[in-house]
Formats: sequence, structure tokens, C-alpha cells
Amino acid sequence: MKIKVGILGATGSVGQRFVEILSNHPFFEIAELGASDRNFGKKYGEATNWLQQSTLDPKIANLILKKCEPDFESRVVFSALDSSVAGEIEEEFAKKGYYVISNAKNHRFDKFVPLVVPEININHFELVKKQPYGGGFIITNPNCSTIGLVLSLKPIIDKFGIESVNVVTMQAVSGAGYPGVASLDIIDNVIPFISGEEEKIETEPKKIFGKATEDGVKLLEIKISAQCNRAPVIDGHLECVQVKLKEKADAKDLIEAWNNFKALPQELNLPMAPKNPTLYIYGEKYPQPKLHRSYDKGMSVTIGRLRKCSLFDYKFVILSHNTIRGAAGGTTLIAEALKELNYLK
Ligand code: NAP
Repeated sequence: MKIKVGILGATGSVGQRFVEILSNHPFFEIAELGASDRNFGKKYGEATNWLQQSTLDPKIANLILKKCEPDFESRVVFSALDSSVAGEIEEEFAKKGYYVISNAKNHRFDKFVPLVVPEININHFELVKKQPYGGGFIITNPNCSTIGLVLSLKPIIDKFGIESVNVVTMQAVSGAGYPGVASLDIIDNVIPFISGEEEKIETEPKKIFGKATEDGVKLLEIKISAQCNRAPVIDGHLECVQVKLKEKADAKDLIEAWNNFKALPQELNLPMAPKNPTLYIYGEKYPQPKLHRSYDKGMSVTIGRLRKCSLFDYKFVILSHNTIRGAAGGTTLIAEALKELNYLK
């Protein structure tokens, strides 16, 4: 039998992706959808401005939106809530025994809240046992640009170690939610600022690559510098990355490390797990958002343009889908892993 799930913030950019992914999922079934007081009581299909290429399942379109209050019948709730309200609402749900799997930033650095990319640190799940919610818990998904970055770094860290990273992002407008950046600001333009984003990219990898201990996560020491730009692309964050390695490696070793990288989600054959979490693609003009963002369900990070760097050791370009791998898809993969590892009882 499928596990019933609820989606908080179902009408937004990430919420719609959840609806799309979970409408026909082998483990989960959408039972409830929540939104703000502006939309509570309306049919989902009327309240949301459906912007996905797939058609909205009429059964889901007819669901009546609930308030985001902890009286859902589903014990598993995905949160795609705006961060101005996510912190408090997610905590209320966890206190009432719900399993909250969130995209919002609010709880990412709570001591016993795992910040998880399933191919990297599923072992951090065990931290939930120390959360103060008496049965319920909160697990978080990292920032959308962080996810692509850390996945591209993981195979290199495992084989050669990394001392420092410099990254410059070109981020899609869907990353700013719906309706997001005004068209007059972004058409014919690039905006060299995204509030709070650089700090997230510089700090979150330290927790993701850190070690889960009795006392929370011992952060990995790694130097990261980030600059973030908003670009006139609908979906897909492109990132130009430079890395300084701890041990010497040839370019072919890095490509081999990316293309051979597999982890527990692939071994467990989880529904949202891509065959290759990181895939190197050849061609001097690749990867590109328009061409490669949906590779393997939008869950693969594509990598290209690997070359020597005169300041660091190597530089390359990565691309990941911000609302799928960077949000709803990544969070669904977390839930699939939780289910297979018996955390969703
Ligand atoms: P969004 O399009 O602005 O959607 C926000 C959602 O929150 C809507 O469903 C909205 O409902 C709901 N909401 C707002 N105020 C509320 C309230 N007072 N009570 C209950 N619900 C409320 O934002 P988004 O881009 O989907 O992002 C959702 C979360 O994921 C954010 O925390 C964001 O930082 C994070 N995230 C986003 C991305 C991305 O690429 N977009 C990636 C990773 C993480 P109404 O429609 O009823 O107002």
C-alpha cells in the first residue's frame, strides 16, 4: 500500500514540482495539499497557476487546499513553504509527530536536523533520533545551488580530497519562486545578487560533508567562495567551479570519478535516483540549461568543460535542475530513502 503524503506550499514553484513527481509515484500518494490563507478552501487546480509541461491530474486538481496546520491525516509531509513561514509551521508539524521533509532554509542548521543529499550523507538520518519532537522529525534538503555543487565535488573529495573551491553561479528565475523576479528586471539582463545565496553555498557543504556525531554534525573544513547571479533562464542552475585538490589527479581521473560515481540510492534502485548522479558530457559548449537540465528525470548533475586552472588545479562547469534535483526531486529521493531504511513507520 502506498504511503499517504501531504504537501505544504503546494501552489508554488517547488510545490508544483512535488505534485508532478508524486502524482504517479510507486511509494507515495498525494492525500492533502496545503497553502496560505489566501488559497485555503479553494480547489488546487483553481488556486495554482499550473506552469508544468505535464497536465495536472484531475483528481489532484479537485483536492481542496487545506491550511498549513498540523491536522493532516498523512504523517509524511513535504514542505515547499516560503521561508518567512516555514520555520514555525514545520516545527508545529514535527511536534505533533509528523515527519517533515523540507526545502526551506529555516531548520538546515539546527543541531540535530540532517541536511541531506542522499548520494552523500544518508548516514546523517540517524540524527533525527535526537530531535526534541517526541517522534516527529524534520529533515532538510540543501539550497538548490549547493546540491549541484556538492554532488560534483563528492566523487573528487572521495578520491583526491579538496582544499578549496571557488564557484560563480548563473541561476534560473524559477529559483526565486512564483511569480518571482519581475520580467522587467530579468529580461535582457543578469542580476549579480541573490539575497542570502552566497552564504548558503559557502556554509552548507561543510555540514553535508561533515561527520554525524552524538553532538550534532562536525563540520568538514573546506574553503568555499561563491558569487551568485540571476540569469534569464527558466529552470537550471549553471555553476562555474574551480577546485584546489589535496592530491594530484589527471583530468581523466576526475572524469572517471564522476562517471563511475554511485551511492546508496542507486544500489537501492530508488525511483527518483538517477543512473549517474554526476555525468561528464563532452563538447566545448556543454552543459547548457536548455539542453541538459532534464537529463535522467532532472536528477543528474551534468558536468563539462574540465580544464587546468592557473589559479586552482582544475575548473569545470556544472548544471543541475533547481526545482527537481535542487528541490522537489531531491526531497522525494530523501523520502524514498527514509522509507526503504524504515524511518517512516
Ligand atoms: P513560492 O513559489 O513562492 O511558493 C511558496 C509557497 O508557500 C506557496 O505555496 C504559498 O502559498 C506558500 N505560503 C506562503 N505564505 C504562506 C503562509 N503564510 N501560510 C502557508 N503557506 C504559505 O516558493 P518556491 O520557489 O516554491 O520555494 C518554496 C521553498 O523552497 C522556499 O523556502 C524556497 O527557499 C525553497 N527552495 C526553492 C527552490 C527553487 O528552485 N524554487 C529550490 C530549493 C529550495 P500561496 O500560493 O497560497 O501563497
